[in-house]
Amino acid sequence: MGRIVILPDGVANRIAAGEVVQRPASVVKELLDNAIDAAAHDIEIRLQRGGKQRILVRDDGIGMDSEDAVLAFERHATSKIRTVDDLHCIRSLGFRGEALASIAAVSHVILETRPHDADIGTRVEIIGGRLRKVEPVSVPPGTIVQVRNLFMNVPARRKFLAAVSTELAHILRVVENYALAYPTIAFQLWHEQKELLRYPAVQEPAERVRQVVGGTVMDALVPFRWSGEEGQLHGWISVPHAGGSRPDGIHLFVNGRWVRDRFLLQVFRDAWRRFGARQPYPYVIAYLNVDPDRVDVNVHPTKLELRFRDPDRIRSIVFTAIEQALQARRPIVEWVASPGRRQKFPQPPPSHVTLRAPTGSALRPPSAGESSTESGEPAVVPEPVSPAAEPAPSRRVLGQWAGCYIVILEPDALLLIDQHLVHERYLYERWLDALHAQSAIPHRTLLVPVPVDLRPSDVETLIHHRQRLQQLGWHLESFGPSTVVVHAIPIGMHADQIPAAVQALPAWLSESAPEHAEGWDEILKTLACRSAIKKGDLLTPERTHALADMWERLRVPQVCPHGRTLSVRIPIRQVHRMFGRDWNVEASS
Ligand code: ADP
Ligand code: MG
Repeated sequence: MGRIVILPDGVANRIAAGEVVQRPASVVKELLDNAIDAAAHDIEIRLQRGGKQRILVRDDGIGMDSEDAVLAFERHATSKIRTVDDLHCIRSLGFRGEALASIAAVSHVILETRPHDADIGTRVEIIGGRLRKVEPVSVPPGTIVQVRNLFMNVPARRKFLAAVSTELAHILRVVENYALAYPTIAFQLWHEQKELLRYPAVQEPAERVRQVVGGTVMDALVPFRWSGEEGQLHGWISVPHAGGSRPDGIHLFVNGRWVRDRFLLQVFRDAWRRFGARQPYPYVIAYLNVDPDRVDVNVHPTKLELRFRDPDRIRSIVFTAIEQALQARRPIVEWVASPGRRQKFPQPPPSHVTLRAPTGSALRPPSAGESSTESGEPAVVPEPVSPAAEPAPSRRVLGQWAGCYIVILEPDALLLIDQHLVHERYLYERWLDALHAQSAIPHRTLLVPVPVDLRPSDVETLIHHRQRLQQLGWHLESFGPSTVVVHAIPIGMHADQIPAAVQALPAWLSESAPEHAEGWDEILKTLACRSAIKKGDLLTPERTHALADMWERLRVPQVCPHGRTLSVRIPIRQVHRMFGRDWNVEASS
């Protein structure tokens, strides 16, 4: 007796309709759902041409008998729900009974399957939705689904598919997320003849997270945990000075299901930003388990969006968990959230806001965010400093202070310069100049090439954009599926920052390779930030002086590329005032 029945219309109609198959990655996702619902322990994925030519998913799950193997391709054929009531407490990944039917309608599918208690398996071949062959076949227990020539009969769709590397990157992202959702299942992924992912089964989610994101990222994450009447939440989040510029570092799992729910995403983002985070998005791997009664998964056909019955409660649970975790990291939090960002210093008189005239070939005037002298208003920053207004031979570099500032004395003021921001601004301006001059950013060849471990999807992206990266001063090549070797770096950056900078690259390159200046501008900002020395880095006297020099040569010495205050000037009369002295009589008292 088969397990599959056709859903009555009443049930079927309640199921949100929509297109299941958009691209190879959505096929992989549906086939993974089926393998996991079939209780697989070991899943192998093989791809050709980014899945456009062939997708094969093999599992060691329960398999199907010959009757079910054919029925599986009927629309609304499912073994997973029977009644409307079942819809309210869905525990399996699939339930619409639409995936195989939809996939088979637009491709050439070969299904081979065998239940564990059967001696022989069944092979079903369907081309463009038409059943061509059903025959016995000798296969191991489990199921193998092969999808060839996706969209072969939908030319418009087929043309719309992206480059192999892009489709592959989408698939890798799906598999990485499934791997995070199911640590106890082994995953393997091959593209052409290359093994790109291998995640052996593990017991602990933490071990799987380490397999997927790599040790470097994992070590920069803070664990969080909450449990209560409504359920449990646990996971990892980046400290506020880390994080990324795009949301794809956020991995959310609700009741075991990978979701990209916009509400949840925003909640994590908000929770994180309360700690003064500088990057727009945190890295998060979060597992939320709630009573299935409290979430509605039947919102979107691709099942990535949810609807919570009590969103406010979910929000407060997430906030509580994240707050506890990040509060434990106070030193970093204090640094990031420390005052002074845009806070006004005591009475900065507008007359002191003097901007340095752009030197050399000014490529663009300072933008509104960088100064507002033209309007005659005070700049948004605490008393900005103008290093080159006149050469200041009497300027004395005192040294580094508190691991993050360079202290400089002028006859009538004390200058504090943020070591990270000045370096960042300097690199940004120099690189921008090179690009505007239509030349590649000069590079420095490393004596010893530096390997950097990345996710395979990121390696693919970097290699795909190798030419553009050379323009940015980066020379690198792949070394195995999850490592790149860096041979040369943009001039001006320090070799210590290579891993951080390389990790920032793929997010910018993966989706929209910049065709226009704004695109490059964003990339340079991110790169400069990652490439610059950090707060806390100890400086030799030489480096301290070198940074002071860089600051002297900045076109915009007041703010970093992201608009943060870069230098602060404390006039001596402010100090006198603090001591209760009238600054007019300072000289005599
Ligand atoms: P759904 O997963 O929503 O039920 P599908 O079209 O994806 O719909 O699959 C239809 C049915 O085929 C499933 O309900 C299941 O019974 C069966 N099936 C599909 N893939 C597998 C597999 N890998 N192993 C065992 N059974 C499967
Ligand atoms: Mg399914």
